[in-house]
Amino acid sequence: MSWENNVRKVVPYTPGDQPNKAGMIKINTNECPYPPAPGVQKVLAETDISKYRLYPDTTAAPLAKALADYYGVSEKQVFVGVGSDDVISMSFLTFFHGDKPILFPDITYSFYDVWAELYRIPYEMIPLHADFRIHAEDYKRPNGGIIFPNPNAPTGVFEDLSVVEEIIASNPDVVVMVDEAYVDFGGQSALPLLNKYDNLLIVRTFSKSRAMAGMRIGFAIGNEKLIKYLSDVKFSFNSYTMNLPSILCGVEAVRNDAYFKETLRKVIATRERVKKELKELGFTFPDSYTNFIFATHKSRSAKDIYEALKVRDIYVRHFNKPEIDNYLRISIGTDEEMDTVLAFLRDYLK
Ligand SMILES: *Cc1c(COP(=O)(O)O)cnc(C)c1O
Repeated sequence: MSWENNVRKVVPYTPGDQPNKAGMIKINTNECPYPPAPGVQKVLAETDISKYRLYPDTTAAPLAKALADYYGVSEKQVFVGVGSDDVISMSFLTFFHGDKPILFPDITYSFYDVWAELYRIPYEMIPLHADFRIHAEDYKRPNGGIIFPNPNAPTGVFEDLSVVEEIIASNPDVVVMVDEAYVDFGGQSALPLLNKYDNLLIVRTFSKSRAMAGMRIGFAIGNEKLIKYLSDVKFSFNSYTMNLPSILCGVEAVRNDAYFKETLRKVIATRERVKKELKELGFTFPDSYTNFIFATHKSRSAKDIYEALKVRDIYVRHFNKPEIDNYLRISIGTDEEMDTVLAFLRDYLK
């Protein structure tokens, strides 16, 4: 037992299953059902491998520049990381360094409490209200920082920018992070608030809306001072986080804007259709502004439906957490995939 007393012990985050079966329908981790932009394929095929001999750009500058241009901010306001998990983890380490607890909703991305535990940051989980809503008043108590996704996950609930702004405005002495992993699917970004608040950090990812989960690209946008502090910590941790293919492919994905918008349009159209059909099948759910639906059934338990789907190689996400264990988080697949899922459910629920 001697050396074990000196070990940093953590309870790790449990990612969704990554099954890999021929013919499966994988709608459990909110990936995009469509491929990345065609330009990404071209870049991968055409990049001279001798380029990989050298270390990559430490700041992923070409990608930061492409993102800065796209979102109308300065390059110094953009931080790029290995998926938003890396960006958020570095941000916890950088910005959540006070004695007071950081705040986040009790039903939310389940990595937040894992990072807080890992870095020994005190935290308080704030219960959501009816219909999984976030209330700004709950975030007007002493705290060392705030993070929440908007839209929230796994609920899919979007809070109006006025709620987001009230939380930021009420907490000028701490950093407020808005995790916008799903905002492209119909929410409203907090980007316009950046000019007004220097304590706002917006985090985004290429994993969902840009169909590049496997490339591991995330980024944060905030004022220059925040980004500088974040970069200082990153350079004290790992200088060469972003690999060259990810940088090049990320730039290309941002350039292929028409493809990006068309992908979003398709996912949103499918989602709206699936909402109607799920309702007819006896499911209820908070209205979703994301690429998933968080649904519960009026008579059958989520766990049973989850197991039945799994037997048919249809993977959805079920959380073994008391308040939400009767819900399924169903990612939006292609129209064809969703037709198969709906046909199965129609039959199963008869
Ligand atoms: C998927 C997700 C992330 C992490 O995405 P990366 O693949 O690490 O970019 C972060 N926050 C929320 C709320 C997510 O759903």
